[in-house]
Amino acid sequence: MLSIYNTLTRKKEEFIPISPDEVRMYVCGPTVYDYFHIGNARSFIMADVLRKYLEYKGYNVKYIMNLTDIDDRIIKKSIEEKIEAKLVAEKYTKAFFDDIEKLKVKQADVYPKATDHVQEIVDFIKQLEEKSFAYNVDGNVFYDVSKFHDYGKLSGKKLVELEAGARVDVNEEKKNPLDFALWKKAKEGEPFWESPWGKGRPGWHIECSAMSMKYLGESFDIHAGGIDHVPVHHTNEIAQSEAATGKTWVKYWMHAEFLIMDKGKMSKSKGGFMTLQSLIDSGLDPLDYRYFCLGGHYRSQLTFSWESMEQAKASRKALAEKIVDLREKAGDAILPKPSELAPAAAERLARFDESLADDLSVPRALAELWQLVRDPQIPPAHALSAAIEMDSVLGLGLASARRQESSLDAALVGEIERLVGERAAAKKAKDWASADAIRVALKGMGIALEDGPTGTIWKKL
Ligand SMILES: [Zn+2]
Repeated sequence: MLSIYNTLTRKKEEFIPISPDEVRMYVCGPTVYDYFHIGNARSFIMADVLRKYLEYKGYNVKYIMNLTDIDDRIIKKSIEEKIEAKLVAEKYTKAFFDDIEKLKVKQADVYPKATDHVQEIVDFIKQLEEKSFAYNVDGNVFYDVSKFHDYGKLSGKKLVELEAGARVDVNEEKKNPLDFALWKKAKEGEPFWESPWGKGRPGWHIECSAMSMKYLGESFDIHAGGIDHVPVHHTNEIAQSEAATGKTWVKYWMHAEFLIMDKGKMSKSKGGFMTLQSLIDSGLDPLDYRYFCLGGHYRSQLTFSWESMEQAKASRKALAEKIVDLREKAGDAILPKPSELAPAAAERLARFDESLADDLSVPRALAELWQLVRDPQIPPAHALSAAIEMDSVLGLGLASARRQESSLDAALVGEIERLVGERAAAKKAKDWASADAIRVALKGMGIALEDGPTGTIWKKL
């Protein structure tokens, strides 16, 4: 049984898709006005692991991610750089695809662009207007939040609480400060499309409602994204979608927590954000970052530091070494199919699966991979086969692993990872004496442990 934490109900629930063999899934994509930052990358990686796990479980996954290619920030950039908004969007769309490929994030089935779906968006707004959820003020069309009685249900807040917390909005056209734009009137010189309300462009939130429904239907299984979208963007998406159809729009909502920098949450608006390229320039492989993300549960905040990146790099290299060792030892042996694995390898694979089935506990699943590749009792061909099976979900490119130079001794890192995994198992079995003994042993090796709510991070003392 797969259980996932549903933001909407605030509890872990059994995952039962609307159609038995198919999972329809939507993730908000980038606004292509700049490179994405590594905090965004964390939620893309989380959604990628979820999608690959669902495929591993035999589901046919239909995965849609939008591209916001018209937006205030794109227009601002086009003015700054003195190039057409369209060219800004094209440049950063290409950069987005380059980056996700480096992170081994599998492509979505469709990447609908807002500018290719203006007609669908206009039709959607007309529907909201007919049902009195929208009002037009001189070419700007707003959503009337007071008409949607469940507004705020995703974050668990009532409309009155949200109103009390809302910033004073200087926009006098709006009836309520929480009302938001569905259609924005074009200012002089801005790109525009024709509409029943005059020349303008779609608001951001409405894109996701209109395009997700076009490709996934009026109700679908999973909507995933970063936790920063809960209070506004996803709240507004629900208000639009459910007002239009009168149906539950999304069954399960999953949100990845923030990536924290020592200065606080990473965001573009605060400046100083870090791109994937800045990691590459520091001598890291994009997959080191992926490995780092896999080391934290998606519902826990993850703290970025250069030290933790060096550890991720060392661990990933040590893992690659292990895979190469196994390949050499396996020689010409034919890799057994998952159904033909030796019992010890099959058990590791089953535990790997159990970990992921428990609200996508990737750190535990990763620990199972380490236990597998370190177990001398498992025949190499069997360990290798199971490891490659696991990597179809984790996405670390193990099937093509090569020996690499490592700054930390690979054997030592492997031993640390194995002990950390063993200690986690001892803790789970409430065997406190063994867990403590392992902590002491690691301390003797110069390694300190930090326990978080969903996993353990190790550090050099
Ligand atoms: Zn969205």
